[in-house]
Amino acid sequence: MYKEQPVKAGQKESSAQAIAPEIGYTVSMPKPWTHLLEVQMHVRWNQMPAQLELKMPVWTPGSYLIREYARNVQDFDVKAGGKDLTWHKINKNTWQIDTAGAKDIVASYGVYANELTVRTNELNDEHAFWNNAGTLMFPKDQLKAPSTVTVNPYIPKWKIATGLPKVAGQANTFRAANYDILYDSPFEVSDFKEVDFTVEGKPHRIVFSGDGNYDMQKTAADVAKIVDEAYKIFGEFGYDKYTFIVNLRGGGGLEHLNSTALQYDRFGFKPESRYKNFLALAAHEYFHNFNVKRIRPDALGPFDYENENYTRMLWVAEGGTEYYANLLLRRAGFLTDKEYLDEKANAIAALQRTPGRLETSLEDASFDAWIKYYRQDENSVNNQISYYDKGEIVNMLLDLTIRESSGGKKSLDDVMRYLWTEYFKKGRNYGPQDYQKAAELMAGRSLDNFFSKYVRGVAEIDYNAIFNPIGLAIKSEEPDAGTAYIGANLVEDNGRLTIRSVPAGTPAYDQGINAGDQIVAIDGYRASQARLQQYLGDRKPGDKVRLTIFRTDRLRDIELTLGSNTRQAFTFVPVANPTEQQRSLYREWMKNDL
Ligand SMILES: [Zn+2]
Repeated sequence: MYKEQPVKAGQKESSAQAIAPEIGYTVSMPKPWTHLLEVQMHVRWNQMPAQLELKMPVWTPGSYLIREYARNVQDFDVKAGGKDLTWHKINKNTWQIDTAGAKDIVASYGVYANELTVRTNELNDEHAFWNNAGTLMFPKDQLKAPSTVTVNPYIPKWKIATGLPKVAGQANTFRAANYDILYDSPFEVSDFKEVDFTVEGKPHRIVFSGDGNYDMQKTAADVAKIVDEAYKIFGEFGYDKYTFIVNLRGGGGLEHLNSTALQYDRFGFKPESRYKNFLALAAHEYFHNFNVKRIRPDALGPFDYENENYTRMLWVAEGGTEYYANLLLRRAGFLTDKEYLDEKANAIAALQRTPGRLETSLEDASFDAWIKYYRQDENSVNNQISYYDKGEIVNMLLDLTIRESSGGKKSLDDVMRYLWTEYFKKGRNYGPQDYQKAAELMAGRSLDNFFSKYVRGVAEIDYNAIFNPIGLAIKSEEPDAGTAYIGANLVEDNGRLTIRSVPAGTPAYDQGINAGDQIVAIDGYRASQARLQQYLGDRKPGDKVRLTIFRTDRLRDIELTLGSNTRQAFTFVPVANPTEQQRSLYREWMKNDL
């Protein structure tokens, strides 16, 4: 179990790290109702420093927020040969141990695990799910060290699912070649159900933890089609085996090298229209094994687990992945081209309703994910865009631009393949210039105008200029033209009508309505969402309305002049008399006739 790593020929032995520590973790859960994962960390090290620093990561890759996992640690204790060693904390996530000459120590601690999300931990009497970055400490400066993890399930019938390979001959023990791999491999331990499938000779499995209205065989067959479509882009897989871990509660997904953790409503597998949301989630997280886990942006690996890891490329890592998730669904036949295009038209409408599109570029939104995307507030609509949503749209536009410029010979698939071959295969990460260059290589021309306006800048997007060559026009309508409106986003809860956010440029914004205002009365009558709708329907732009509001705890009246609703809806229509070129570009893209 704790075999020393042989030193390879040519490797220098001069540094203290020449012989890596042997690290073995044991994770137990004897009292799941306490939500405490009990961790033992066994460190044997010829080069054991006089003061060993054990550190808990502050975040986990894929979720760009400092989460301070150390706050869940309790009951820390460390021994050598059964005797207590002294230790103290030297910062929020570091335990410094006086090793007193010992070369073999065992640290133990509890991790409170009562938050089921894909990036946190949950232990109860139904299951255990954990992320290793939020559970297992690492010795300072030893992120390249291998380790093993032995799991003691609560009861014998609980099984273990993880992307880590098993250690032969040792029950419930898994091996990680280094910490980037260890922290990339979540565990699900429960009496889960599982189904296997094979694509291009590679084994895949889906683990379902919990009951629900899913059909395991159908889900496996459908997910296999998505995996197969991704395979067609790259022509190979980067893993030996892939595991989908599905917890049937909560929502969301987190990508890993050879697994993904998904959370989805247990009753969301029917009807078919809802089931497609599950397939879209699975497709997104699965595609990440190519795009972000292997085709890696600059700062995203190897990781710094104690600080923010800044990148301007989340619009490709996330937005590009979302573009491909939906495209894979389309290619696998789960969406018609009309369904696909309707969804894109709605996404464009949502972006065009977001004032923040004129404030923050895709690159800046990516860079500030740590302080903005993961910390949204009532002003986000005015100063931010989502690098997922706009990123998906801009990657789609980039794909169409490449298809048009290359006369249909190249597409974004070629960019992905190029990044796979030239960056992942050569052990390199790519940066903003590399992505642009790869796209330009496929387009056969400079795309500087495209990137400076839509990626680095905040210019309004000229959609029709890009859709026309593909045979589509985007038609905008103002379905509510002439109707009176206020323009604030409202939420009604327990009879209270409250302003949730106030987009810039609306009558509410210009005339002093604040997020948090509670509307009590409209022209002297009790307010409700329904009453407000009805009131606005009876009025016209330019009419005045007296809103009685609570702002903090003071009652006051605000006189407001109603504006005209200019909300736009978009639909795609084929251009009149499409040329053969337009027809063929459309056919290539949507796998259907225009
Ligand atoms: Zn993602």
